[in-house]
Amino acid sequence: MEFETRAIHEGQQPDPQTGAVIVPIYLTSTYQQDAIGKHKGYEYSRTGNPTRTALEEALASIENGQFGLAFASGLAATTTVLSMLKSGDHIVAGDDLYGGTYRLLERVVKNWGVNTTYVDIDHIADFETAIQPNTKLIWIETPTNPLLKIIDIAVVANIAHKNNIILVVDNTFASPYFQKPLDLGADIVVHSTTKYLGGHSDIIGGAVITSNEQLYTELKFYQNAIGAVPSPFDSWLVLRGIKTLAVRMREHEKNALFLAKFLEKHPKVERIYYPGLLSHEQHQLAKEQMSGFGGMISLELKGGFAEVEKFASRLKLFLLAESLGGVESLLCYPAKMTHGSLPEAERLKRGINDNLVRLSVGIEHLLDLQADLENALSSS
Ligand SMILES: *Cc1c(COP(=O)(O)O)cnc(C)c1O
Repeated sequence: MEFETRAIHEGQQPDPQTGAVIVPIYLTSTYQQDAIGKHKGYEYSRTGNPTRTALEEALASIENGQFGLAFASGLAATTTVLSMLKSGDHIVAGDDLYGGTYRLLERVVKNWGVNTTYVDIDHIADFETAIQPNTKLIWIETPTNPLLKIIDIAVVANIAHKNNIILVVDNTFASPYFQKPLDLGADIVVHSTTKYLGGHSDIIGGAVITSNEQLYTELKFYQNAIGAVPSPFDSWLVLRGIKTLAVRMREHEKNALFLAKFLEKHPKVERIYYPGLLSHEQHQLAKEQMSGFGGMISLELKGGFAEVEKFASRLKLFLLAESLGGVESLLCYPAKMTHGSLPEAERLKRGINDNLVRLSVGIEHLLDLQADLENALSSS
């Protein structure tokens, strides 16, 4: 079955008892057992809940994976994956990472005795040279946040497997509709379902998908042992979001490509980052690795922070807010918002300049979005 069909049906059979077409929200913490040691597959809702099971099966299917696990947030999913590491282990990570992942690695995981080496993702061979005898895991995001650089997943997977290391790909920015890291050799995919999968800016959630049964068994143990699971209602909302992922992603991309082309030519724009533009340094790689370029655009405005402030305050449709991937368009200022936890020198070194803004292009009409941007840019 094709993606759109699986997103609507996989794990979501009508309820056998009532015929309800939609998976019910099983608001229960516990389950009656038939006899001591004999139950129907569910014992306690931290361990398993039927609404979450439906979501986990749908998540696995749309990532072309065998097994899915749902979590209370993207960072809960990340923390659970990193819990597989032990004191003395080592991580290699790309240097253009979600700020919260960086904070987790540096301020939490480091205290477990697990250190991380960050690799300049513009030099892919550095992933190999950064490997130590105790390296257990490579962690990448692509497209990256906020500079929308593309990392060749197959090349990094090859480096990881030659060295017996697990490759994790955070696929939040592309969504499984446009990119399938497991098909390209990744061992584990992580998502913040808060973003495109949920798609409506109304929940916080996370996911882990793998086709490796041994990893799944271990991760499922940690999911239950750590307990950072989503509520049945949040599971249901993500499941509902997934049903329309394909149609939403097509609209996000159509709008983003149109606006990126418009912004690229605008005299107030100094620099634009969008993988769908011919001018993007890794446009060719993006075309090969992804089936679409997504809905995120980053740009630098001429004139520095003062121009950014004016731009942000004049926008009406693009709301100034953290997060991304919802149906409504958002504007974010990475230096103070998503990447505010990075030391300034580190931030500038990574190219996150004071005149950089990030747009999450929603699915409003593209001409309304264009007019909003035009109006905010033209005044001075
Ligand atoms: C938002 C985000 C996360 C963290 O997810 P939460 O749901 O906020 O915990 C991780 N990675 C990426 C790329 C994100 O955008």
